Amino acid sequence: MSETINVTRSALPPFEEYCEEIRGIWDSRWLTNMGEKHQALEKALEDYLGVRNVSLLTNGHLALENILEAFELHGEIITSPFTFASTTHAIVRCGCTPVFCDIDPVSYTIDPDKIEALITDRTVAILPIHVYGNLCDTDALERIAKKHGLRLIYDAAHSFGVRKNGVSSACFGDASMFSFHATKVFHTIEGGALCYADDGLRQKISDLKNFGIHGPEEVPFVGGNAKMNEFCAAMGLCELRHLDTWIAQRRSVAEHYRARLDGVPGLKLNAPQAGVESNYAYFPVVFDGCKYSRDEVFDRLGRQNIVARKYFYPITNSFDCYRGRPGFDPERTPIAKYMAERVLTLPLYPELSLEDVDRICDIILQ
Ligand SMILES: *Cc1c(COP(=O)(O)O)cnc(C)c1O
Repeated sequence: MSETINVTRSALPPFEEYCEEIRGIWDSRWLTNMGEKHQALEKALEDYLGVRNVSLLTNGHLALENILEAFELHGEIITSPFTFASTTHAIVRCGCTPVFCDIDPVSYTIDPDKIEALITDRTVAILPIHVYGNLCDTDALERIAKKHGLRLIYDAAHSFGVRKNGVSSACFGDASMFSFHATKVFHTIEGGALCYADDGLRQKISDLKNFGIHGPEEVPFVGGNAKMNEFCAAMGLCELRHLDTWIAQRRSVAEHYRARLDGVPGLKLNAPQAGVESNYAYFPVVFDGCKYSRDEVFDRLGRQNIVARKYFYPITNSFDCYRGRPGFDPERTPIAKYMAERVLTLPLYPELSLEDVDRICDIILQ
């Protein structure tokens, strides 16, 4: 039996490079609480992403919860269910109500034409998701948010390094959340970030991620603990040196898939977006009108030790934990439901060999 190919494999810097990066932590004994590595990574990411402010957090999920708290949002938040559990859970855990908008079938991102019908006098924000490295229609979303006085916060977990006409995905809306989980294009083992233009937000996020403590005797906010530690920040500093190479390797894997699978009847590949430089985070294939269903292909790949992922399936408005809640109904987002039942993301990571891509494609094409 051939070796297992997982849907992803975390990229790592050379072992010695990481050891060198963390040497100073032994000398200083400063392990967390916004030390030297934490500060250096924030600066490095501000440069890399071309955004005014980066705040680092424990993970992407807590970054989302922290930004919802920082904006003191109470009410309805328009979002889409074609996402990872985190987006919807963050809204609910912060005491807000998600209102689900359907997606565009080409980009898999929220359909701006369907948003305004969902706005009520309780709507406080829009929380769209950049899916698979595709960007949302940021111009349309900006217009709608401005017109109705709504906050615009992006779940940009999939879009690290993506640029639209040269502008990074960190620069849209009031704030963008990135996840630096081990499985993402850029990672810090676990980690996350908030990116935003408003300098006035910086102190508040900094307080919120550290128990709401502002000074030794001053606690203005009911904060939690969401600080990124020094070892994770050190990993990020190493990763950043290799990232462009890794994205280029991802690109050649994605192009090989495309060369093999494009134009095959019943298979729909992700359409590249005009003016968008992708990070090749995922390679989704939609099985629609194909002889075999998505689930049959998934099982067949699994029997050959190839682990693809039904991502995103199920959609968040059909989760067990939300059963019976008003508004949580996949029938109201039919395109998201349709896509979720047919999409499969194929293995994609920098070290994946083109021979393995061929093996995967051969099974799909059989
Ligand atoms: C990974 C991910 C998250 C959560 O990020 P963590 O760092 O794992 O907490 C949120 N949203 C999306 C779309 C993601 O892919």
